[in-house]
Amino acid sequence: MTVRALERIVVVGGGIAGLTACDTLRERGFDGELIVVGSEPHAAYSRPALSKALLKLDGDLAAHELAPATHGAREIRGASAVGLDVERRTISLEDGDELAYDGLIIASGSRAKRLSDHPGELTLRGLDDAHALRNRLADRPDVVVLGGGVLGMEIASGAVAAGCRVTLIATSEPMSRQLGAHVSGILTRSARERGVRIVVTASASVDADGERPVVRTSDGSTYGSDVLVSAVGDVPNTEWLRVSGLLTGGRLLADGHGRVAPGVVAAGDVTGWGPGGVRTPLWTSAIEQAKAAASALLDPEARALRFQNYFWTEQFGHSVKAVGPLPVHGSPEVLVGGGDAAPALLRWQGADGIRSVISIDHRIPIPRLRRLTDAASD
Ligand SMILES: Cc1cc2nc3c(=O)[nH]c(=O)nc-3n(C[C@H](O)[C@H](O)[C@H](O)COP(=O)(O)OP(=O)(O)OC[C@H]3O[C@@H](n4cnc5c(N)ncnc54)[C@H](O)[C@@H]3O)c2cc1C
Repeated sequence: MTVRALERIVVVGGGIAGLTACDTLRERGFDGELIVVGSEPHAAYSRPALSKALLKLDGDLAAHELAPATHGAREIRGASAVGLDVERRTISLEDGDELAYDGLIIASGSRAKRLSDHPGELTLRGLDDAHALRNRLADRPDVVVLGGGVLGMEIASGAVAAGCRVTLIATSEPMSRQLGAHVSGILTRSARERGVRIVVTASASVDADGERPVVRTSDGSTYGSDVLVSAVGDVPNTEWLRVSGLLTGGRLLADGHGRVAPGVVAAGDVTGWGPGGVRTPLWTSAIEQAKAAASALLDPEARALRFQNYFWTEQFGHSVKAVGPLPVHGSPEVLVGGGDAAPALLRWQGADGIRSVISIDHRIPIPRLRRLTDAASD
């Protein structure tokens, strides 16, 4: 089957999904014109490093850097796409310019969710946020972190290591929604041992107290601090697609190949993927989706993505790796370790028979971790 010849492919988003898509197009033999439009002024970098090495006052300040791009695309940095016309195959930029394409890759990612407009409510999504937060932590302020997910716990870990007094406010036991009660217990115990005060509340909001933002919890308590960082989730960057006709109930949904419309594919944090339309805002998911989507743009016979989610986190002296569906529920099968101590290798049987494996401080290579989800590994 032949498709419209692709002479020019435009990629919107200069993050890891955009970069991987460009590399994949070249690897698959696309030698036409490639243009990347990205809102940030920076070349693609490792976002996971921002809440890990980059928050450590003695950490490697270049930890976020990736190898220089070799795809030869024209990169238009510091420029945002503001509209898409799929009939005319053009995207419009905020300065009024239009860019025509034969193929389009949507990789505009997501941004941090906020709970107020208060300028003192900080978030951590981009490189500039990380530098700003790192500078603030150097003065050892009192810090309130709002959110007990992966990002909130990594920020609390970085702040307490920097010598700050840290309060973490969460609407469930930290990390329990992602990794279940067992692993949450190990991580929150380490956080408390390092001096983090953990407040679990039914709900929390951010209010202004004069110049300062404060967190108000559902029992009426307020928590002020020198620095407030919210880590309460992310919002996909889909506003520029609003009149494109590509959104379903406000969401961008790609099939199992990443296809969205003729000549248009999507990958990464911006898009729901596959039959369930589930968004998986994780680093390796963005990479694998971008490879699949770029391949599908070039080849109508490309195979659908088959991928087992993988993610990792570093916090309070622990290194955690997880493979398979999350969250996990119930008690794990203990493969290595014992009780609620680390190092440990733990496995859960999901309701649908699909297994998840989590390692804590265990030096198991990722391919072996993946194999432990197979029934054949018993
Ligand atoms: C601090 C932090 C730590 C993380 N740690 C981990 C981790 O340990 N493990 C893990 O698996 N995942 C982690 N993640 C998630 C992971 O980084 C993301 O899943 C991944 O970066 C998504 O890549 P992406 O290319 O889809 O989106 P993004 O990285 O968001 O890139 C999208 C790019 O598109 C740009 N853009 C947005 N709108 C437009 C527009 N209209 N026009 C042009 N450009 C636009 C954005 O500015 C951005 O540069 C972390 C995320 C954060 C924020």
